[in-house]
Amino acid sequence: MTVEIDKSLRDTPNPGSDAAIAIGCTCPRMDNGRGRGYMGVAGLFVYSADCPVHANREAGES
Ligand SMILES: [Zn+2]
Repeated sequence: MTVEIDKSLRDTPNPGSDAAIAIGCTCPRMDNGRGRGYMGVAGLFVYSADCPVHANREAGES
């Protein structure tokens, strides 16, 4: 049995989490509950437009 995990998601720590901050995340830390979720809502996050970790997830061109 094989369990597949979306690697692109797994490799990116939640916005505002310690792991994300450690690799340069500039997303709002308090707003994201330090990686737990926006206003305590799991899975909901706010992103910083200039975050080098999360802002470039979409492969779009500016
Ligand atoms: Zn970020």
